[in-house]
Amino acid sequence: MSLLEVKGVKRSYGNLQVLRGIDMVIRRGEVVAIVGASGAGKSTLLHVMGTLDKPDSGTVSFDNKNLFRLSETELAEFRNRHIGFVFQFHNLLAEFTALENVCMPAYIGKWGTEKEIREKGKALLGVLGLSDRGEHLPSQLSGGEQQRVAVARALINSPDIVFADEPSGNLDSHNAEELHRLFFELRKEMGCTFVIVTHNEQLAEMADRRLMMKDGLLVDS
Ligand code: ADP
Ligand code: ADP
Repeated sequence: MSLLEVKGVKRSYGNLQVLRGIDMVIRRGEVVAIVGASGAGKSTLLHVMGTLDKPDSGTVSFDNKNLFRLSETELAEFRNRHIGFVFQFHNLLAEFTALENVCMPAYIGKWGTEKEIREKGKALLGVLGLSDRGEHLPSQLSGGEQQRVAVARALINSPDIVFADEPSGNLDSHNAEELHRLFFELRKEMGCTFVIVTHNEQLAEMADRRLMMKDGLLVDS
């Protein structure tokens, strides 16, 4: 049942202790919201959970396997195969089409032929309401559309878990609502697991669990 387990995680930047002992368990199929004031350590926690950043102490385990025992190469492969990321600023590659952006992690992961990958990319764009946008460049898409392309890109390798850092932080309320609705639809349709850092109260309310971070610790909310 438990997909990802965080135990005793601490992380400092110089003298600043940003994570002061984090314990948490993420179960498959959950949508978990992490809320808290700016500077509380939410992004740092998300980066450590997503293995983009190493803790000073403590462990992050996936299927009971301690991820930080893996080599850098193994970790990169693990991330490509099992983890999806969505950031506040979508980071789409400007010179590639929406479909190419979506397929990029799969071309790196090489789990299928180019045709198979493109088919899956197109199907995902369809799920996200972007069937007619595949050949557009990011600059030709609205902010909401760009962010949905970023979500499709996060899902192309069928990850076990998706980490989203303020995914709607740059969207107007209509597009934000649309994006939040999609997360729950994707969970329902595809069984996706989401851990989402957000300032959006509505999203936090909708989540299965709402975790509050305060000064580097998880506190009751
Ligand atoms: P949140 O996401 O809750 O706003 P962050 O995890 O981004 O919090 O940051 C927590 C604290 O750590 C902040 O004081 C921030 O300035 C500091 N911090 C984050 N990343 C770095 C870094 N790479 N180097 C130094 N300090 C950092
Ligand atoms: P295993 O279950 O042996 O670890 P995988 O889960 O990697 O193997 O792959 C199982 C099947 O899923 C294979 O047929 C493979 O082509 C397909 N597959 C592997 N990786 C991906 C991926 N990232 N996205 C979609 N399909 C994939």
